[in-house]
Amino acid sequence: MITLKRDVLVLMMAYPGYVTGVDLIDHEAFLVMKSGTRILYDDRKKKSFDEKISDADIQDMLETCYPLTEIDALMGTNVDPGRTRVYALLDEIYGASKDAILKKLVTVEFGAERLPFNKEAGAARALTAIAAGAADLVADQPQTEDFLFPTSGTFNYRVIAGTDRLSPHAYGIAIDLKSGADGYWRWASPEAGEKLIKVYPKDLVRLFEKNGFIWGGKWNHFDIFHFEYRPEIIIKARYFPGSPDTAEPWYQGVNADSEPVSGYIIQIDQSLGS
Ligand SMILES: [Zn+2]
Repeated sequence: MITLKRDVLVLMMAYPGYVTGVDLIDHEAFLVMKSGTRILYDDRKKKSFDEKISDADIQDMLETCYPLTEIDALMGTNVDPGRTRVYALLDEIYGASKDAILKKLVTVEFGAERLPFNKEAGAARALTAIAAGAADLVADQPQTEDFLFPTSGTFNYRVIAGTDRLSPHAYGIAIDLKSGADGYWRWASPEAGEKLIKVYPKDLVRLFEKNGFIWGGKWNHFDIFHFEYRPEIIIKARYFPGSPDTAEPWYQGVNADSEPVSGYIIQIDQSLGS
């Protein structure tokens, strides 16, 4: 129950106005969306690693903690925080069809480039903030520019290579920075990936994370040029990085006195029982 409450709070903080609460129906918890759609929290299926990726529920999506610390090596076997996505949630927030998503794209100026990005849930706003931060970073550390430009794409309505699942690029919430041969686990060896992870600019990764993006370099199935707007993964990592301490309130870690968080906490306790 503690993890359920924390995960709901994380999602309400990450997607305010989109995730509006939680409901219990026959003892099963459902996330409630602005549209009224309910998304099952935990399907209680025993899943292999591959099944968690291909058929994730909300609980699976938030299960693996994303490290906000710097890494200098490849993540351990099958540690892919944020690579699990719940499509029902993405459909609700960013659009459930190509046409619906196209209507939500806006142009973000990124260096000298103009990139389409989804305007919902603060995604395009976050990329705009990163563009400003990247300009400062390049002024300070000119070699960073070689890792940024030319970028290799944001919105692209396509599936993930080797799967029939939509890529986060299809929702307009991911960006690939300047790409080379050694960035993607399907085409590059773990050794080549790790070598690139070691030299990839740490301040650039931090800039993205500060603005709600996760880095594909922190996946065992690495995708080093890939950054994806996933504020729920970053918020969970920031406030609830470890297992809950049952002696403390379930929301221990967040600032429970600040609005709107204090209101979310009361609402979650009312819906699920305290
Ligand atoms: Zn990508």
